[in-house]
Amino acid sequence: PPDVEALGRSTWTLLHTIAANYPKSPSYREQSDLKTFMGVFSRLYPCWVCAEDFQRYMEKEQIRVDSRNAFGTWLCEAHNAVNTKLGKPVFDCSKWEERWRTGWKD
Ligand code: FAD
Repeated sequence: PPDVEALGRSTWTLLHTIAANYPKSPSYREQSDLKTFMGVFSRLYPCWVCAEDFQRYMEKEQIRVDSRNAFGTWLCEAHNAVNTKLGKPVFDCSKWEERWRTGWKD
């Protein structure tokens, strides 16, 4: 079975990096691609408990793909929901872009 921690760290890196490079003013096609990607991702993520909870989260909290900041903030909040579930500290979502785009060491 996959190493849920290592898989999680790598996956958050991919997802937040997608957000950081997503357009500020995405086209209809880009918005539709991101929605499709996240929907498929939530069904294929190979930690099945994680995937089930994430699908439930996506049903409750409608994904926002209308801009880089909208998606980056939505994703940060989704990550925070997992942090809370696991008893990890909540991340300050006003800093998501600093963490994932302009970059700092952690
Ligand atoms: P991670 O949570 O992996 O975070 C990596 C880095 O992201 C942090 O060091 C920090 O710099 C930054 N960061 C932290 N929070 C945020 C935020 N809110 N926004 C932006 N950046 C942030 N594990 C389980 O045991 N059970 C689960 O149900 C579960 N569900 C998951 C669902 C998904 C969709 C994903 C991608 C992962 C899931 N995981 C789950 C894995 C879990 O979230 C962590 O990745 C894993 O526990 C390793 O945690 P970590 O402390 O190294 O930091």
